[in-house]
Amino acid sequence: MSAAVTQLGYAGFQVRDLAAWRGVATEIMGFEIVDGEPTCLRLDQRHHRIALYPGAADGLAYAAWEAANAADFNAIAGRVRAAGIAATHGTREECEQRRVADFVKFRDPNGFAIELYHGPNAAPWPFVPSRPISGFKTGAQGLGHIVLRCADRDAGVKFYTEALGLRLTDTAELANSHMKATFLHCNPRHHSLALTTAAPETAGQVSHLMVETNAMEDVGRAYERCQAKGVPIWLSLGQHTNDRMLSFYMRSPSGFGLELGYGAIEVDDATWQVAHWQTGSHWGHKPHAAS
Ligand code: FE
Repeated sequence: MSAAVTQLGYAGFQVRDLAAWRGVATEIMGFEIVDGEPTCLRLDQRHHRIALYPGAADGLAYAAWEAANAADFNAIAGRVRAAGIAATHGTREECEQRRVADFVKFRDPNGFAIELYHGPNAAPWPFVPSRPISGFKTGAQGLGHIVLRCADRDAGVKFYTEALGLRLTDTAELANSHMKATFLHCNPRHHSLALTTAAPETAGQVSHLMVETNAMEDVGRAYERCQAKGVPIWLSLGQHTNDRMLSFYMRSPSGFGLELGYGAIEVDDATWQVAHWQTGSHWGHKPHAAS
């Protein structure tokens, strides 16, 4: 099989309100903060999985996909370029900041800032959550998943499957909104990426970033802490149809969603059957009027 990315490894965001992000990171999520420039958020043994760059606007700085080794990295970068996309190597300084051996950066067909890297660096000290939690389900499944709103979803799906090597998990067209979504995986996580159709005014935005906990209690406790501390809930506690994830979505301080989930099913490529869904959730996930 040809080279494919193995996980959504890390993501960076430009943020207007770093203090609010630090609050959500520590008081709700239990991330460990690694101070510096950028401010890094730690979820596991990796040095960080999320980097926050203070700035005048909110948005995605980069979503980064991991290659297993230098040979795969070169092969995948070659396919990106063969797709007509200019990919430039990160500087030594940027590689040091991201704690990777090498990376290239480029824009996907919908204009999202993407990175491809190899050689992640695990930090030599254990993950110390900022409040008592079970921890995050990462490892070979990566950071979690990211959902991107696309002007041209089909072009995005073609690029991510053919150039980066992600594989189709399932699709959805929601009956109430006619929003279409394609869910893609690159390891047992049901989806590391979903691409959705979008109205022109929201195309190019991040819908949400999801991280998965090791225990259901962490989701429930975080839900209560959001309510106690006034962190806006976007979608109430619920359970998704396709990956069966129990989750809720808060509004991150940057406006996009932050989904905290537990208990998703995993994909085994040998037996997986691609489904098409008309609903996103078995129950819950209701929009909150206050947000
Ligand atoms: Fe999600």
